[in-house]
Amino acid sequence: MTMKHEAYSTHAGDKTKKKVSCKDMGGTCDATFEGNYQEVMDIGWDHVKEHHPEFVEKAMKMTEEERKKWYADFDHAWVSAGVIE
Ligand SMILES: [Zn+2]
Repeated sequence: MTMKHEAYSTHAGDKTKKKVSCKDMGGTCDATFEGNYQEVMDIGWDHVKEHHPEFVEKAMKMTEEERKKWYADFDHAWVSAGVIE
């Protein structure tokens, strides 16, 4: 799935490496992903596709408003996330 993060997030090009959790992405487990914004999106999506198909199904059906909210929620988590060295 190709997502134009830039259309939804002002942090899309953020190269700061951070650690976010599956829950930050709307998943349900305690797995964590490390990398810059694009990297955690890629790793995170691979993870939810493998472990949380119900979330992926829901994401595919998101309306524009729901998608904006998802990105807003993730961006909030991204800003709060710990920076890794
Ligand atoms: Zn998970």
